[in-house]
Amino acid sequence: MSFAKLGLSTPILNAVAELGYTQPTSIQKQAIPAILLDRNLLAASQTGTGKTASFVLPLLEKLYRNRRYAGQTKIRGKRVRILVLTPTRELATQVEESIAEYGKELDFTSMALYGGVDEAPQKERLIEGVDFLVATPGRLVDMVHQRALHFDEVETLVLDEADRMLDMGFIDDIYNIIDRLPDDRQNLLFSATLNDHVRNLSTTFSGVGMENKEFYDDLLEINISPKETSASSIDQWLITVDKDTKSALLSHLIKEQEWDQALIFIEKKHGAAKLVSQLEKRGIKADCIHGDRSQSMREKVLASFKSGELKYLVATGVAARGIDIGDLTRVVNYDLPFKPEEYIHRIGRTGRAGAAGEAISFVAMGDFKNLCAIESRLGHIVKRKEIEGFPVRKTVPVSILNYVRKANRPDAENKQAQNKDTQPKSNKTANAKTEKKRAPRHK
Ligand code: AMP
Repeated sequence: MSFAKLGLSTPILNAVAELGYTQPTSIQKQAIPAILLDRNLLAASQTGTGKTASFVLPLLEKLYRNRRYAGQTKIRGKRVRILVLTPTRELATQVEESIAEYGKELDFTSMALYGGVDEAPQKERLIEGVDFLVATPGRLVDMVHQRALHFDEVETLVLDEADRMLDMGFIDDIYNIIDRLPDDRQNLLFSATLNDHVRNLSTTFSGVGMENKEFYDDLLEINISPKETSASSIDQWLITVDKDTKSALLSHLIKEQEWDQALIFIEKKHGAAKLVSQLEKRGIKADCIHGDRSQSMREKVLASFKSGELKYLVATGVAARGIDIGDLTRVVNYDLPFKPEEYIHRIGRTGRAGAAGEAISFVAMGDFKNLCAIESRLGHIVKRKEIEGFPVRKTVPVSILNYVRKANRPDAENKQAQNKDTQPKSNKTANAKTEKKRAPRHK
C-alpha cells in the first residue's frame, strides 16, 4: 500500500517521499484513515513503529483541507489547534521536528514547549498563536495559569507515550488540561502499554465511558503487536572498545561471525568514507550514505543494499532517517548516538515485523554518559560481550540506571518547573491520584 492511497495530499506525500518512506507502517495504515475520519483513538504502540507520523500526517492533512476547502483562517493569537502532550522535553522537541519535517511544504506553525528553561521567549512566541503545540504537561499548565495561552480553539488532543506520563506523575496536570479543552475535540492516545490507568484516561474523551459500550464504540482501539515494535525481538549487546581499534574490531566481527548483512551507524560524514576504505583494505566490500552524497547516489547505494548485493552499509544518522529495509538482521552503532531516542530508532530498524534482529554497540570511554542515558531510557543494562584479541585499555564503567543528563537536572533557580517536567514521582502516588480522579468520571 502506498501513502497516496491513505488520502494524503501532494505536499505531504512529497515530504514523506523525500524522507525515503516507501510504505506506511502498520500503525500508519490503521491510524491515518481513522484520524482523517475524525475518530477517537486508543493506540498501543511503541517508539520505532512510526507512530509519530501516524498522527502528524493526518493532522497536517486535516489542517490543510480546512484551510484550502473550508476557508479556515490563520490561527488567532494565544490559541492552538493541535495540542500534543509528551512526557519529556526530548520527545517534545523530536515530535515538533517531525511536524516541521512532514509539513515543510505547508505553512503551518509548530512549537515545542517544556520546563526547565526561561519562560519569557516561550510566552512571546505564543502571542502569535501556533497551529501545532507540543508540550510537557507541567509547563503547559503554567502557561495557561498565566493566561499566555487559551484552549478554546483546540481541535485535537494527542497524548503521546501516555503510560510514561502517568508513571511520571503528570496525572493531575493532564486532567487539569483536559478539563479546559472544548468538548467537541478529537482525542488520540498513544501508549506503549494499555494498562487500566491508560484506559481510564481514555474515558475522559467526550462521551466515552468504559462501562458505557454504546459510547465506547466511538473509540477505535489499535494494537500494534509487540513483534512489530522495536525492542522486543532485538538482541542488544555492546562491546567496550578503544576508539582506535573500532575499525579493526568491526572487520574482525564481520569475518569471524560471518555477518550476512549490517547497517553501520557512524557519527560524521568524513568518518563514513574513511571507514569504508578501512574495511575495503581488509577485503570487505562496503559503501556509505551521508549528507554530502547526491540523492541519486544515495538511492543507488540503498537499492544495492536492499537487494542484498551490498552487504555492509555505513550511514550517518541523518542520512539513514526513513530507511525502511524489510528484514534487516543487524545494526551496528559504530558510534553511540547522543540521544536515547535515536538509539531506539536505530535499533528499531532491525527485528521488524517479528523477524529476529541484532543490535551491537561499540562503546568507548567517552561514551559513558550516553550509555547511562540510553540504558536509563531502556530501563535495563545492555549485556556486554568481550571479544578475544580486543582487550580495552580504557574500561567503561557499568552505567548508572535512572541517570539524568546535567542539562536536564533541576538547578536552584528552576527547580520547581523542572520538578514538574522531568522528575518522576513514584508510581504509587501517580496511581493513587488516578484512582481519586477516576470515580467522578464514570457515568
Ligand atoms: P516513531 O515510531 O515515530 O518514533 O518513528 C520511528 C522511525 O521510523 C523514525 O525515524 C521515522 O523517521 C521512521 N519512519 C516513520 N514512518 C516510516 C515509514 N513509513 N517508512 C520508513 N521509516 C519510517
